[in-house]
Amino acid sequence: MQNFDVVIIGAGPGGYVAAIRCAQLGMNTAIVEKRKTLGGTCLNVGCIPSKALLDSSEHYHNASHAFGEHGIKLEKLQVDMKQMIKRKQSVVDQTCSGVEYLMNKNKITTIYGSGAFKDANTLEVALNDGESDTIQAKHFIIATGSKPNLPESFNYDGKRVISSTEALEIDTVPKSMVVVGGGVIGLELGSVYARLGTEVSVVEYVDRILPTMDKDCSKELTRSLKKLGMKFYFKHAVVGTKATAKSVTVNINKRDSEESFDIKADYCLVAIGRIPYTEGLGLENTGVKLDERGRIQTDDHFRTTTPNIYAIGDVVKGMMLAHKAEEEGVFVAEMLAGQKPHIDHNLIPGVVYTWPEVAAVGKTEEELKAAGTAIRVGKFPYKALGRARASMDIDGMVKVISDATTDEILGVHMVGARVADMIMEAVALMEFRASAEDMARICHPHPTYTEAVKEAALALDGRALHI
Ligand code: FAD
Ligand code: NAD
Repeated sequence: MQNFDVVIIGAGPGGYVAAIRCAQLGMNTAIVEKRKTLGGTCLNVGCIPSKALLDSSEHYHNASHAFGEHGIKLEKLQVDMKQMIKRKQSVVDQTCSGVEYLMNKNKITTIYGSGAFKDANTLEVALNDGESDTIQAKHFIIATGSKPNLPESFNYDGKRVISSTEALEIDTVPKSMVVVGGGVIGLELGSVYARLGTEVSVVEYVDRILPTMDKDCSKELTRSLKKLGMKFYFKHAVVGTKATAKSVTVNINKRDSEESFDIKADYCLVAIGRIPYTEGLGLENTGVKLDERGRIQTDDHFRTTTPNIYAIGDVVKGMMLAHKAEEEGVFVAEMLAGQKPHIDHNLIPGVVYTWPEVAAVGKTEEELKAAGTAIRVGKFPYKALGRARASMDIDGMVKVISDATTDEILGVHMVGARVADMIMEAVALMEFRASAEDMARICHPHPTYTEAVKEAALALDGRALHI
């Protein structure tokens, strides 16, 4: 029986990064993954393929809607969806094999199979080739991730009623699609198809998209996505679907009333959140407990209720984000090596890769007001930026919130071109507990979108220069 210092279950961004850091710190490390390829949800059916399709569809949308204004004429523009999916898959394949390379480089034992605990120190692996293996370790890190939430009433069939996984594989442009859920997945994948010409209707239970983000971001993005042609049904709930071979009828109830109606579409994409994945792990043989939401219960050091077993990423509390899972993986590895790592979960940035993009870090205005914190708020619109006018990306704004007494930056919320990259200025400043005045005094290059950050920080003090 093979014996390791640490065995990691699940090779997503949480698991594979934890494995690398454990190996770097001298631990004899193994990783167990039940997919054929490494990289987890993120690389196989999440972050990477969705961004590949977002980039391709954005090129098409610009070519069909913006090139003319720039003085570029194109004739017979067409979408070759099969090629778009093929390119997406090759990006995924390259990225997944990159993880395999990293496992080999760091001398990590990779075991392809499904792991189930026999006891707190022993894992039985049903190998993908049909055999089985039993391994032991001093420490285990559970990084088994999450899966789409697909309630029975939605009649998910993977054909007409689909999850994000199937939405990444459609090889002809649909005429119509109903998206259930105006969260991150619904808006990103809804955008892909809206840009390609699909009539996209988003049904959202609450009164706005991205309900966990700052309200101003929701408003600004809704305006842009409506211009793209997306339709929104807020305060509506999907109560069921009925699919045939070629279409699906989606039953929708208006919340707070008896009114209901149907929308017929080519597809219904269910994107109402993801749930932790713990099935078949044999947790009942370990003493590891779940919390009230089915997540593995951990303390602030990612220790489960069993001393030698840790859990990280989507399967535990907190935001379901790849970079959050990675940070937690490094944290546990360093802790096992006797170091004293640190993560500030308040400073994990969130990004939505629509166009315009949305990016945020820290607290929202609503959260701060609800907590009774005295704040100052500064905003600056993209349309006042020379850079934005040059590129015709005038939709968007930056909002900086600081503490009214100390001026410490408490939250930064952005919608606009390239804010996915720009948010890092705010994260770095907030890590060093900078003030809005610090942000306002930093020289920002002209002309760039980043000038909106400086201007928003200036606006907070009533001294924006360009508005
Ligand atoms: P996962 O990536 O889910 O990996 C868990 C792995 O464990 C899986 O490969 C699974 O097969 C394996 N596993 C499970 N059980 C067992 C077992 N018993 N034995 C062996 N292996 C097992 N996040 C971002 O930060 N940015 C984005 O742009 C982004 N885009 C996304 C787009 C989509 C469409 C989706 C669905 C998600 C997206 N996410 C994004 C979220 C991101 O994918 C997750 O937060 C991230 O993958 C979580 O990492 P993880 O390591 O915890 O789990
Ligand atoms: P989400 O939690 O972001 O959004 C789900 C939305 O569905 C919410 O707005 C909710 O109000 C709504 N909803 C729930 N039940 C409903 C119902 N019955 N009818 C209508 N609306 C309903 O979930 P998601 O979009 O499925 O994404 C799952 C996770 O994946 C997220 O937590 C996110 O962190 C992660 N993700 C991240 C990225 C990124 O970082 N760019 C991209 C994709 C996914």
